[in-house]
Amino acid sequence: MTDCLFCKIARGEIPTGRVAENELCIAFRDIAPQAPVHVLVIPRTHYRSLSDTPDGSILAAMGELAKQVASELGIAESGYRVVLNTGEDGGQTVHHVHMHLLGGRQLKWPPG
Ligand code: 5GP
Ligand code: ZN
Repeated sequence: MTDCLFCKIARGEIPTGRVAENELCIAFRDIAPQAPVHVLVIPRTHYRSLSDTPDGSILAAMGELAKQVASELGIAESGYRVVLNTGEDGGQTVHHVHMHLLGGRQLKWPPG
């Protein structure tokens, strides 16, 4: 999608700290990190939210890449959280489906 921020990042039109990629997804650091590790994992293809993904393959690829990044950034043992904010009540602000990978500190529960 031409005007989508995360599509531009996926196409390399906006420089970001890309940390990993696989065939279907890329991972890059969040611009406003909420934890020492805060990485976003997005599919290269535009889907507005999790609800718009066609099947489980996208979620699986995102999960695989998040797991790989957690390991590479040294938080696999200490633990981490993956979050998919979806829609208005879910707090989604960028409408290209993305997985937050958060770690490097003790995270609180429940979220606000
Ligand atoms: P959401 O609120 O939709 O779940 O998450 C969107 C995330 O995208 C936020 O954590 C926000 O900080 C991040 N973000 C917004 N604009 C940019 C950007 O231009 N670059 C990067 N790296 N992250 C962004
Ligand atoms: Zn997009």
